[in-house]
Order: sequence, then structure tokens, then C-alpha cells
Amino acid sequence: MMNYKAPRGTHDILGINALGMSFLELKAKEIFKKRGFEEVRTPIFEDAALFMRSIGNTTDIVEKEMYVFEDRKGRKLALRPEGTASLVRSFIENRMDILMPASKFFYTGEMFRYERPQAGRYRQFHQIGAEFFGNSSPAADAEIIILAQDLLSSIGINGVNIHINSLGCQKCRPLFRETLVKYFSSVQNLCTDCVRRLEKNPLRLLDCKIDSCKFTNAPQMLNYLCVSCKDNFNTVQTLLKSANCNYAVDGTLVRGLDYYTRIVFEIRSKDVGSQDALAAGGRYDNLVKELGGQDTPAVGFALGSQRVLLAAEKQGLFNSFKISEKIFVAIADQELFNEAFSFAVKIARNGLKDNKDISVFGPKNTESLTNQLKFADKIKASKVVVFTKNEFENGKLLVKNMRDRTQAECFIYEV
Ligand SMILES: [Zn+2]
Ligand SMILES: [Zn+2]
Repeated sequence: MMNYKAPRGTHDILGINALGMSFLELKAKEIFKKRGFEEVRTPIFEDAALFMRSIGNTTDIVEKEMYVFEDRKGRKLALRPEGTASLVRSFIENRMDILMPASKFFYTGEMFRYERPQAGRYRQFHQIGAEFFGNSSPAADAEIIILAQDLLSSIGINGVNIHINSLGCQKCRPLFRETLVKYFSSVQNLCTDCVRRLEKNPLRLLDCKIDSCKFTNAPQMLNYLCVSCKDNFNTVQTLLKSANCNYAVDGTLVRGLDYYTRIVFEIRSKDVGSQDALAAGGRYDNLVKELGGQDTPAVGFALGSQRVLLAAEKQGLFNSFKISEKIFVAIADQELFNEAFSFAVKIARNGLKDNKDISVFGPKNTESLTNQLKFADKIKASKVVVFTKNEFENGKLLVKNMRDRTQAECFIYEV
């Protein structure tokens, strides 16, 4: 027989991690609802051109990391590497840019990037994200940053570091771009990608995983912001402070996507690798128009669920997950199988008198009681309810406590 393995960079989410993933999604949905965000589920694959156009042809994601394939009719498709492009496509396609231009949406789901796998980084990974359309006010930026922080603290992750930066606008960024080109031209031994990026998209060099250490003295956008971008950046900071949100201005933050304008941010934790953010996002005022919609400002964020869960695990948050008590229903006499079965169904539906949070196993057919008890141990049942002929005739059961190995008789109606 062939032994099959999950493809490199993918993983099965099970046990406590599956519980953690569900818990995170549940908490996120509660918080999104309170802030008026509605859920959108987009396809896992889209026209590859959508991502090339929105994320940018010279970004690492598009150049190296996208899963692109042709379907049987030769259409060029891509597994989604992130959520924003799909959300914007959906926003425009469903004419929401005209019908409800001021609207808030969230999504949860799998994304795909061909990256080098490492702790908390997978080729198929889960993201939770939100997009706020039609509001150009700095209040929308602050709301999104606070929302991302609230989401992390809702599952117990505190002590995060929020980094913010402004990438400027179409007015002020060209001058910065020119200054960057001058600066990079003086740096020796750029990698081949950077040599090419220098012509097409000099901002991308700041993101280079090979060369970025050479750029410690690179010019920073913050020194080139126009008056209106400067005002915007200051107002966002004032609003964050007024909400007791601690942040640090970080002029080196550029993000690996082309569509950002003005505010970008990352939320990092020392509990995951230093390079990887738990959550990140920013403003993208031109993207809706560039993809064919009405001119609609927008700001959003996404968090990487696996990284968030990794941080949660390191902070010991999984220890607090309450696991239901396991009850095994056993039979000492085969002829009581039907009674034991209907009893198991009843307690699964209603719980026990003293505990509603239980998981019910059994009964098992055609096995000796000894084997049934061994099985109960194997699944770590805390209690075994045994149907025996003598007790049953008197309306009773045996309840074995598997922790201290004691047992007691009790009436069926008492359980
Ligand atoms: Zn500007
Ligand atoms: Zn480089």
C-alpha cells in the first residue's frame, strides 16, 4: 500500500487546535456583529488576473507564491492568496459600490501561498479579515486597528505590539519613490529581484527578504508626507490614543502588497517569529476604482489564524478550554442493548442531571464488559454507566467513576 501524506506546507487541524480554531472564529463573529460587519463567503479560486492586478505584478505573492492553474477550458485561475481582492471583486460585482457604498464586511477562510513552511506558516492557511468600504475618515482607520486588537484580546492575547506607518498618497508618494531610487542605486550587490524591482516598483525593495538588512539608512515615507497625509496620520494617532490603544510609529513598515495608500499597520507578538505579524492591514482608497468599481475609499485587515493560535498556545490559553466530560454507556448483558442505546440517546440530548456538558459514547455490541471498560479507559471516559440485568430489573444502573475506581448504584431517573 502507498502511504499518503498531507502535501508539504499543509497540515491537519485536530484536537485542541481544532477547538482553538472554532473558538477564534466564534469570538471573531461576535465582535464583527457588534461593529456591524456582515459576512461574505467568496470562492476559493478566482481569475488569476484579479490578484495580479490588485496585489501587484511585482510583489512576492504574485511573482513567487500564487497557486496558478488552468481549468479544462484553459481559463487561468488562482487559489486566493489573500482575502481583500476577492472581497473587492464581490463588492463591485454585486453593485454594492452603488447600492450600499458605506458598508462593512468580514470573511473567514483558507488562503494559499507557496512559501517556505515554518512554525505558524503554512501553504494553506486560515485568515479572518474585515473590510470597511466607503469611509475615508481617519476614524475608519482607527476603528479597524482597534477591531483587530479587540479580536486578539477576546481570545486572551494581550501584550501585542501595534506598528503603524503612512505610505502617503498619489500626491506625495512619487517624490518619495524618486528619493528611494536614488538611494537604492547607491547600494552595492542588490539581489536580482531587487535590480528588476528598482525599475518597476522601488517600494518593494524595502520588503526584500535578502537585502532589507542593507537598507538601514533608507529614506522613510514619513519624512515625505504631504500636509493632508500628515494631518490624516496625526488624526488616526489621536483617535487611537483616545481609545487607549498603544501603538508605535514604524517608518520601515511597507507591507507586501501594492494596493495600500496612507495608513498601514501590523500587530506583532513576541510569541511568534519576529518577522511574522499576527494581524495586518491598511487603507486602500484606489483599489475599488482600479478594479472597475465606483471611486470608493476602503480600509481593512486580516489575521492569520494559525499564527494567532500559536501565540495563544504559547501564552497557555488552550489550558482554559473546557473539554466536555466523557460518559461511556456499557452493558453487562447483551439483551439490554436496546435499553442502553435509548438511554445513551437520552443523555446525549439532555445531559446528566449534574452536568449538561457531556460527550456520550456507547453502547458497543458483542463485547465482554472487561473489553468495554478497557475501551472506556482508552477514550478517557470519566464515568461508565453499566446496564446489568439485576439492577435494571429494579430500575437501577451501576455508575463507575473511572478516576477513583469507585462505583455506586443509582436509579435510572436520577442520572
Ligand atoms: Zn499625501
Ligand atoms: Zn533583494
